[in-house]
Amino acid sequence: MLYSTMADAYEKIEETMKRLEITDYLVELFSKTDKELIDKVVYMTQGKLYPDYMGIEIGVAEKLAIKAIGLASGRDLESIRKVYKEKGDIGLAAEEVLKGRLQTTLLKEPLTVERVYETLDKVARTSGPGSLEAKLRYISGVFNHATSKEAKYIIRTITGELRLGVADYTVLDALAVAYTGDKGNRRLLERAYNSSSDLGTIAKTVAKEGLRGIKRFKITVGKPVRPMLAERLETAEEIVKKLEGMCVAEYKLDGERVQIHKDGDLVDLFSRRLEKITHHYPDVVDLVKSNLKASKAIVEAECVAVNLDTGELMPFQELMHRRRKYGIEEAMKAYPVSLFLFDALYIDGKDLTQEPYLKRRDMLKKIVIQNDRFKVVPSISSRNPKEIEKFMEEAISDGCEGLVIKDTRSVYRAGAREFSWIKLKREYRSELRDTLDLVIIGAFHGRGRRAGKYGAFLLAAYDKGTDTFRTACKIGTGFTDEDLERFPKLLSPYKIHHRHGRVDSKLEADVWFVPQIVIETMAAEITVSPIHTCCMDAIRKGSGLALRFPKYTGRLRSDKAPEDSTTVDEILSIYKSQLKKIEKEAVLELV
Ligand code: ATP
Repeated sequence: MLYSTMADAYEKIEETMKRLEITDYLVELFSKTDKELIDKVVYMTQGKLYPDYMGIEIGVAEKLAIKAIGLASGRDLESIRKVYKEKGDIGLAAEEVLKGRLQTTLLKEPLTVERVYETLDKVARTSGPGSLEAKLRYISGVFNHATSKEAKYIIRTITGELRLGVADYTVLDALAVAYTGDKGNRRLLERAYNSSSDLGTIAKTVAKEGLRGIKRFKITVGKPVRPMLAERLETAEEIVKKLEGMCVAEYKLDGERVQIHKDGDLVDLFSRRLEKITHHYPDVVDLVKSNLKASKAIVEAECVAVNLDTGELMPFQELMHRRRKYGIEEAMKAYPVSLFLFDALYIDGKDLTQEPYLKRRDMLKKIVIQNDRFKVVPSISSRNPKEIEKFMEEAISDGCEGLVIKDTRSVYRAGAREFSWIKLKREYRSELRDTLDLVIIGAFHGRGRRAGKYGAFLLAAYDKGTDTFRTACKIGTGFTDEDLERFPKLLSPYKIHHRHGRVDSKLEADVWFVPQIVIETMAAEITVSPIHTCCMDAIRKGSGLALRFPKYTGRLRSDKAPEDSTTVDEILSIYKSQLKKIEKEAVLELV
């Protein structure tokens, strides 16, 4: 197939902004395309060579592209840069510069799509020493056979500037028309696409086997499934009503969604946007290998940064340190993660996507060896809004964003945002800008690096009215190794066998202390919490206020008596004064 056929189609597509017209031009192009080549043509119209999840990018820098134009045209680089500056587009610059030359050389051998694809593939796969020279040779080599118009599109493709605006759904429309004669069949194609994320394979299947092939399309380990997404409602009551009481409420963890594909010892991880992120998380791969008891599976989880010594969940920002190119081993140690599994799409030969959610969860539970770092997401089965709200407070003070409430009857609708999953997020946030001075009234044994020491402390605020100390948080972050050596010594004179009489706590600490030692803490927010007793019932019946993501500042307030610590009244007034409605997020939809 001649590359000029593609270039002509690109030119027409470029001139219109109308989706319907773009579809018509694509239909025309696909109809002229050899069935064996259709996958490549589809990828190329979107400026790619492979489906996104394979992570293969052509990625040629402008500098190299200009050199290639220079080599093919014999012009000096300075003059090419000048044309580029004038035109403001690398494609137009290539067209202009190569025009003069090509009119004289005129093409002994016309350029084919196969040849262009092959060359671009070589460019994409060449790396290491000497790769720049090799890429330069490949690109200028293909330019020697290209018309100036073709060169314009080739150079835009290799530099990632093609941007014809051909959306996935437009390709699906065009495929439906070109190969089944009915745009209505797009739905079937879309379903297949949602379960494979590979437009090229869909194109080839429908071109060669028609709808029969598409109907046989199955989810496959190794090809990411487009994720099911959640709708949003404001209250637990509305959600329960919407789901007719058939619901399970789950923690909505604040991390990164990971789709896990396991095939024996091969594990791949895909992000929410279906990029392959396996290399960022070697620790997750190990966790999957040792804790997922299925030889072939596709499961979904939220990957969350944690403090391994205390088990605390860390804010989302901590996890972002893991998204780096270099220093992955160091980041893995500094920012460990846990996985919270929430769905199973495929297990050992069985596609589970058409099974109801409860069944999928049961199947998931059967294959997960649960431990601190690998577990099924906490959930409750309830149709009682009050109970769900309590669970929500618990989730938030545990460091989650809120809840996802799921219809127990629903199938896994790949790529869909529907009311089968409904998120409930808190409406208000009370930011905390000041530090608070709180009293240590208990401690918890540490694990991991903190085994044999205290891992976390239970802190309380002072309640003047009753002369008691009421718990406001469990804290394990911000302590240096020195602090961890020092605190047991500091606290040992105050150790007692039971909760102190002036302490009000719902939590059971491993070790109790006489309220004496005051420390300075910071936190992201103050939040309503059913497990802490500070300001109990002041905001909501049965709940207190607590610090969210608390951190020790490193400052011991030995100058303060326990009665000088921050009072519950102060915490209540900070909570009220800093309370802000959370802006409703903009929901960005595909299409
Ligand atoms: P958000 O900003 O709320 O995460 P989003 O558009 O990324 O929005 P949503 O569909 O709104 O995604 O919410 C679902 C996301 O919540 C999932 O993609 C996943 O990353 C995360 N999540 C956390 N816990 C769960 C859970 N228990 N079940 C499903 N998704 C969960």
